[in-house]
Amino acid sequence: MLLPLFIMLIILSFLIKTFITCLIDVLVLLWCIKFICRATHSANKWEVVQRTLNGSQFYSYSVCNVGEREQDNWLRTTFIQRRPAASRVFVEIQFIVRDCNSFDGASLTCKETFNLYTSESDADVGTTFRKGQFKKVTTIAPDEITSKNDLRINTETRVVENLSRKGFYLAFQDIGACIAILSVRVYYKTCPATVKSLASFPETVAGGENQALKEVNGVCTDNAISENLPRIYCTVDGEWVVPVGQCQCKPGYEEVEDTCQECQQGFFKAAASGDKCEPCPANTQSLKSGALSCPCMDGFYRAPNDPPNGPCSGLPSAPKDLVATTTQLSAGKLVLSWSPPADTGGRNDITYSVDCQRCESNVCQACGEKIRYEPASTGLTDTKVLVSELDAHLNYTFTVEAHSGVSLLALPRSKPPSTSALTTSLHYTGEYPPKITSMRLVERTPTSLSLSWDVSPRPRALSPPIRYELNYRKKDDNLGMTTYTVLKLEKNLVQVNELNPGTAYLFRVQAFTGDGGAGGSSMEEQFETLPEAVIFGAAVGGAVMLFIVAVVLFLRRRSVNAPSQLTTSYLLFTEQLKPLKTYVDPHTYEDPNVAVLKFATEIHPSHVTKQKVIGAGEFGEVYRGILKAPGRKEVAVAIKTLKPGYTEKQRQDFLSEASIMGQFAHQNIIRLEGVVTKFKHAMIVTEYMENGALDRYLKDHDGEFSSFQLVGMLRGIAAGMKYLSDMSYVHRDLAARNILVNNTLECKVSDFGLSRVLEDDPEGTYTTSGGKIPIRWTAPEAIAYRKFTSASDVWSFGIVMWEVMAFGERPYWDMSNHEVMKAINEAFRLPAPMDCPSAVYQLMLQCWLQDRSKRPRFGDIVSLLDKLLRSPDSLKTIADFDPRVSIRLPSTSGSDGSPFRSVSEWLESIKMSQYSENFTCAGIVTMDQVLQMKNEDIKNIGVRLPGHLKRIAYSILGLKDQTSTLSVFAV
Ligand code: AMP
Repeated sequence: MLLPLFIMLIILSFLIKTFITCLIDVLVLLWCIKFICRATHSANKWEVVQRTLNGSQFYSYSVCNVGEREQDNWLRTTFIQRRPAASRVFVEIQFIVRDCNSFDGASLTCKETFNLYTSESDADVGTTFRKGQFKKVTTIAPDEITSKNDLRINTETRVVENLSRKGFYLAFQDIGACIAILSVRVYYKTCPATVKSLASFPETVAGGENQALKEVNGVCTDNAISENLPRIYCTVDGEWVVPVGQCQCKPGYEEVEDTCQECQQGFFKAAASGDKCEPCPANTQSLKSGALSCPCMDGFYRAPNDPPNGPCSGLPSAPKDLVATTTQLSAGKLVLSWSPPADTGGRNDITYSVDCQRCESNVCQACGEKIRYEPASTGLTDTKVLVSELDAHLNYTFTVEAHSGVSLLALPRSKPPSTSALTTSLHYTGEYPPKITSMRLVERTPTSLSLSWDVSPRPRALSPPIRYELNYRKKDDNLGMTTYTVLKLEKNLVQVNELNPGTAYLFRVQAFTGDGGAGGSSMEEQFETLPEAVIFGAAVGGAVMLFIVAVVLFLRRRSVNAPSQLTTSYLLFTEQLKPLKTYVDPHTYEDPNVAVLKFATEIHPSHVTKQKVIGAGEFGEVYRGILKAPGRKEVAVAIKTLKPGYTEKQRQDFLSEASIMGQFAHQNIIRLEGVVTKFKHAMIVTEYMENGALDRYLKDHDGEFSSFQLVGMLRGIAAGMKYLSDMSYVHRDLAARNILVNNTLECKVSDFGLSRVLEDDPEGTYTTSGGKIPIRWTAPEAIAYRKFTSASDVWSFGIVMWEVMAFGERPYWDMSNHEVMKAINEAFRLPAPMDCPSAVYQLMLQCWLQDRSKRPRFGDIVSLLDKLLRSPDSLKTIADFDPRVSIRLPSTSGSDGSPFRSVSEWLESIKMSQYSENFTCAGIVTMDQVLQMKNEDIKNIGVRLPGHLKRIAYSILGLKDQTSTLSVFAV
């Protein structure tokens, strides 16, 4: 496209005086008829001639000295300013040339061409003219020549290249032709401003011969973005070619005729792309235009794993047709079955959970772990479950609830009726008195046998105790008589002593109820003592005896008179029934390497790939990586490494963690995948927990979880701890930093190294009793005299509860360890965190009872948390919260009633320094101004996270309430 810069009629702008020295013969108007100026060596013959062409008058510059030799007539333009980018200009000339043959006798000297010259200059030189400064551009010849009566106008365009100075002159040299210049047009070419691919490109002057294609960068138009700037090329002819790259409308906008327009209401666009806005998916809505996503409509939710822009789903309705099949009632069993809910809420991840209440004399309580479910009580995908170990004479109410991926999201608010469970009451009366169902050998030595057995239905708490009669005899009593020994027992286990080595005995048990009812006897079972040869070994391994028997009364009578006389013995056991699987301290192994091999799977290092360092352990870096064992799927793992230069003792300590972890198998305990011990670089490989340590995770997500979700996390930790305490394992360093969180927010207990409490934990502090102890997490008796028990773990669990409900806040803030111990001894306890449900805080206080025997056990804690989760309404009552003790650090409180000297000091004390600038920018620079702030004002200055908002608002509330003097931590 052509865009003239200067359209110049040189007729008006030529400096006539200088160059046209001959006088204009005003009488001769038509140059083709008469020649007015004749060139000589000393005078320029160009002249201005007025003409009439096609009826209109105009001027031309003419010269016509064809009869004279050596003509050299010059005509020069005025100074033509150049636009800096225009290095190449076009010169279009309209002219007439007279046919030399039309001059009689002048044809020998007559020419039919003229020359175009140019000269560059940085300034207008006025009338000064020096021929030598001009460069010839070209010779111009006409396409058509004009004969006497036939006027022919030529138009020729020439290019002047490589201009670089501020301006230039053009000049025409006549060397003896008869010519008239009618017009001269000087112009350059540009590529016009344009919008392509949602990018705008400015008007660009076309390049010259040394820059045939000019690269031009574009700028995305309003509401369009691009990672790489789009570009395009401008040709010498002023045309855009080869566009590269593309801008795209940003989220919430779509392309409409080269512009980005907001998505209409009811539509959304989540990412920058060339796509159109999409209609909001099912059960979602966008209430204003320009939506990036469509939030769920009330009563509909997206599960964490649902695509963020997919449809939302509702809660499932209640399961239908719950029935119980009681064919196996006599064995204390029944089968519950039901049909799927009529409305699945549009989801296919429906699972069921079964809850049970047992009622006695109108008092109902959760069945808890007293009954057994096959395959499980939660997460059922099938619509039936086998319930067993039901007690006699009790009413049971079973509740089956349908869940889907969105149920957890809905529950914290209020439980809509559609999710409430269908309840069916089943009144089951078990068989009584109970039967012995199985008998097994627990432990044996050459002189003793430890046995236990099960009874069905199981004895219930308030029913009269069941007693047992165990009678046994040697299998091969060949003395012509059979001697029975009868033991009367109160528990369903016994250690029978004073037996003969290597001898088989036959045992039978019968149960009796307290009211004299006799149950059926078991089958006669045979067990054999160990032979003599292993007595020594057994004595050495005495430490592994599982039961300590307190023999209160031993009476033995024997008679040899009758072939079948009865001998009666009475044994009373006071020891409680323990779980059969117990944690084995790897230290009891002489060679710790043997312990590792016993409890952990050896992995070949070539199956482990390290990807990225994710943390620093006591012994070396912790990596995220991949484990690909032969025949197994690839799994993401955490890899703990042992740094080079370790001693053998350090290597053993390092691997001891695997020996301990390898003994555990529980959903809420970090799972050991295996170890690398047979190669130079030892490694411990565990399951990978995407969200890392719980304390950090909660700090990073302050205020983002509901109490229901937090209590769900605590329930997981409590279940893991129950498992550990059932295995008689005392953790000693339970703290949120030692809990790991995966991507489904499941919490798992970790950190089992033997030396961990002593060395690993940065919280560890030396106490007067010698050891290094994480003071603020540890029970007073463990600090005072190293009494570490599951009850001291319960205390630590209470602190973990506090950390979780306070989103990772440091327990006792910046109080010193000494101050903490003093406060605890004076019966002070941490106050309830902000928004903490009252029931949860009450449980914390129970965990912090001074008398450890009064603290709840982990089993009780799991049951209570389960109960709270089953009825989320119970979390709605919030514990009293005093912002001054919960947020403000005791050591920063002043005594003059206005403790904070500046806004920044106050913000620092509540750990909200990151908002200092927001306050300053909003002009809030004095504490008086702070005290005037309303919740809305805090939001308006840019505090968006709900947790932070609350923290600041509560703190202001606390500051206002200066009259109250409560400060439980005034130590
Ligand atoms: P530890 O030596 O067990 O205290 O681990 C040091 C750090 O490594 C922890 O604080 C976590 O951030 C990280 N880490 C350890 N184990 C895992 C795991 N299984 N998954 C993810 N991160 C882990």
